[in-house]
Amino acid sequence: MPVLLPYPFAGAFDYARPNGMALEPGDVVLVPLNRRAEIGVVWDAPGTPDGLPADLAGPRPPPVADGRLKPVDALLDVPRLPASLRRFVDWVAGYTLTPPGLVLAMALRINALQGQPPAAGWVRSGSNTATARITPQRARVLQVLAAEMGDDVPRGTAELARLAGVGAGVVRGMAEAGLLRLQQTRVASAFADPDPDHVVPLLSPDQEAAAALLRGLVQARRFQAALLDGVTGSGKTETYLEAIAACLAEGRQALVLLPEIALSAQWLQRFERRFGVLPAVWHSDLGSKRRRITWRAVAGGEARVVVGARSALFLPFPDLGLVVVDEEHETAFKQEDGVTYHARDMAVVRARLAQAPVLLVSATPSLETLANVEGGRYRRLSLAVRHAGASLPTVAALDLRDHPPERGRFLSPRLIEAAADAMRRGEQAMLFLNRRGYAPLTLCRACGHRIQCPNCTAWLVEHRARRQLACHHCGHTEPVPAQCPACQAPGSLVPIGPGVERITEEARETFPDARILVMASDTLPGPHAAAEAVRRIAEREVDLVVGTQIVAKGWHFPGLTLVGVVDADLGLGGGDLRAAERTVQLLHQVAGRAGRAEAPGQVLLQTYNPTHPVMQALVAGDFDAFMEREAAQRRPGWWPPFGRLAALIVSADTPEAADAAAAALGRAAPAGDGVQVLGPAPAPLAILRGRHRRRLLLRTRREIAVQPILRHWLDRVPALPRSVQVDVDIDPVSFL
Ligand code: ADP
Ligand code: ZN
Repeated sequence: MPVLLPYPFAGAFDYARPNGMALEPGDVVLVPLNRRAEIGVVWDAPGTPDGLPADLAGPRPPPVADGRLKPVDALLDVPRLPASLRRFVDWVAGYTLTPPGLVLAMALRINALQGQPPAAGWVRSGSNTATARITPQRARVLQVLAAEMGDDVPRGTAELARLAGVGAGVVRGMAEAGLLRLQQTRVASAFADPDPDHVVPLLSPDQEAAAALLRGLVQARRFQAALLDGVTGSGKTETYLEAIAACLAEGRQALVLLPEIALSAQWLQRFERRFGVLPAVWHSDLGSKRRRITWRAVAGGEARVVVGARSALFLPFPDLGLVVVDEEHETAFKQEDGVTYHARDMAVVRARLAQAPVLLVSATPSLETLANVEGGRYRRLSLAVRHAGASLPTVAALDLRDHPPERGRFLSPRLIEAAADAMRRGEQAMLFLNRRGYAPLTLCRACGHRIQCPNCTAWLVEHRARRQLACHHCGHTEPVPAQCPACQAPGSLVPIGPGVERITEEARETFPDARILVMASDTLPGPHAAAEAVRRIAEREVDLVVGTQIVAKGWHFPGLTLVGVVDADLGLGGGDLRAAERTVQLLHQVAGRAGRAEAPGQVLLQTYNPTHPVMQALVAGDFDAFMEREAAQRRPGWWPPFGRLAALIVSADTPEAADAAAAALGRAAPAGDGVQVLGPAPAPLAILRGRHRRRLLLRTRREIAVQPILRHWLDRVPALPRSVQVDVDIDPVSFL
């Protein structure tokens, strides 16, 4: 019988079933492989019903004569992988051209299977912190425990020591000092049932109409994709929670994907207010104990609602009744390392295979989703107005040519005035700049030298608080040099352009009395810090927020009335086909933080291109027209979503090897009606982590699948040197 192993083989291997062992597809087993025992899953025979379309299925390994088959060693005491998940693994593997075993590995989470969930682990005791000695090592242990969402997750001694980078003795010493205590981890109590009738909201007629439709979709127990759109604050979340309530009432499980689960403290609180308990949470930083418990609770059906990151798609739901993708336009749903897949698109597939509805939610839906609505494949439900009479903020472009900042500064006097006004009224203001650090470039005034990453085609970004230059691509850091590394001129290095740190510095000088809070991923390590920052803003302990894209998330800040976008043009450069769409989505989301309660909101976009369609769309609040314009630009050249794209990224140790391999791929390139190959060309990030990179782009008309073409293409290329790597990216989002 076929057994799929979590390794990059072309398909399942055949094993013999020992006498007396009843095995079915989905069973988790131990099998011998190269004299070792490996975990695998009994897979379905090829050609089973509702299998893959033939053009998605990859090659299968040749069959082995029956007499030579090795027997399965043992059947493990692990819940069976449901058929809908097995089909999903096959589907993702076929679609992304990934060996199915590697996709299975994401579903298996081997460490989630080994052994039963442990009985107890360490949590912070909350006492003795005043008297006990807190060494830096001990502080790290406490920090690791605090880095989880909500209550501490009990962690075993070895795991805690590893995560904190300390010896096991440190953990034991802390227990003796009373800083840690043992807590039982019981599976049953970990996931109490959410109560669909706990606190039922009174919906507006608009919301109720949408909710009624959604309930109907859930009760129909069929696949249907739907878009729920509507301006920020119109109650989309409120409305889809009703779909979850209906799913619970049906006795089925629901899955909600959020783009950044670490930043979802407010979402979790809302869920708890609505349903009386917290949902199960799933993301890649979950402690291994928590992971084990959650995986089994999903498989056993005890975890009724899971909210998670992309990888939650691969959980073994036995009875999935609803999938929700919130902020469906977010690029964070595209996984770029390991198996390259788009979680929004795969969520639709997951729902179809589970015969459940899927709901895509956004105030600024992606063009992909709008095209599916247009084509009649998805339904569309819209909420037109903000809840409770809150008005949308007014958005104005602030032309920096007419109202320039002072020399060496980045905030226009107009923006400063508006922020000061808001704060004088006792309201809050926010400055948004989507760039971490102090300055994106350090330049020598004497010789013009620019400080570059030694491993990447990228400038180093100054982080002044850490006194470092850092590469945002590979993580390389070095101290800020005292003199120019090229001409040795002392004191000649100057920062060029702003990052959020530099804006903060300027804000501190401009508003010396304001209570300022900085929100950036590197200043708020972990979900607890983000949740605390959000609480401080919501409770008016802050006057001015300066932040990167993390301030754009779905936060509800009732006192915030002014949003200033420091550089609205920032995302528009580069050759990215979705640059304009993405800028509109991001800036609209930022703008949506303003004026969510009684006081009206105002948004100022600092720009050198006030007539750019992106600025005009934001000012007019007319996204339908903007998206139609985008569609009109992409349709003729069959750019997505009107055509299909796949990228091949060649990387090698030397530029010569990269060029040779790229040229070989270019010579074997497919051609034909509706099929086109662009490149090879150096990638914009021509060197990344010391590897030299070239790109090719396959573009086809929408009705032509790229997978079989790619498979034949790669088969035609003569064997490449081992040091050359070719990565396939289906539906690429990043073009770097
Ligand atoms: P969106 O997801 O569209 O941005 P939310 O669902 O977050 O909108 O709603 C915005 C705010 O209005 C939230 O604070 C929410 O609790 C509140 N709200 C929306 N609809 C209702 C309702 N029917 N009853 C009570 N509060 C509501
Ligand atoms: Zn680098």
